[in-house]
Amino acid sequence: KMQQRYFAKDEAAMEYFGAQLLLAMQHQGVVYLAGDLGMGKTTLSRGVIRAAGHQGNVKSPTYTLVEPYEQEGGTIYHFDLYRLMDPEELEYMGIRDYFSDTSLCLVEWPDKGEGLLPEADLLVTLEVQAQGRVIIWEAHTQKGRVAADNLNK
Ligand code: ADP
Ligand code: MG
Repeated sequence: KMQQRYFAKDEAAMEYFGAQLLLAMQHQGVVYLAGDLGMGKTTLSRGVIRAAGHQGNVKSPTYTLVEPYEQEGGTIYHFDLYRLMDPEELEYMGIRDYFSDTSLCLVEWPDKGEGLLPEADLLVTLEVQAQGRVIIWEAHTQKGRVAADNLNK
């Protein structure tokens, strides 16, 4: 699969990329956010959610697993599955209801939900580079390919 990348030199650049990601996804679909603790997954999510119009805080929903943000362009569900012990928990949460034609799902620690999460349109991986982070993205669906192309412009 073709990978594309962008260097985000600081937190502001990360949030800016989030705004571009929201536009590229047209406020809908599934984005996996991979990368270790402290790589900027929540920062990137904050950029997406703020660009959609949310003005309050955006913190990782570490204990609740998911935080909804209802915005004009649709609902954004921000998942953090770090503390998920058993993917079956996602069944009890009614995971399928979150993924729809009118929602954008951002998923931190998608590996923890393997088998029960819908596939990603776009897989975004964050890594440290110098003082900043490199953002690597890869499309897994047709929708993801359109988004990946838009991000490349
Ligand atoms: P994660 O959700 O992956 O654990 P966070 O988004 O909480 O990571 O970010 C961890 C730290 O990395 C924060 O202090 C944040 O300011 C910083 N950070 C985020 N993006 C960048 C970047 N592009 N360059 C440098 N620091 C960043
Ligand atoms: Mg986080």
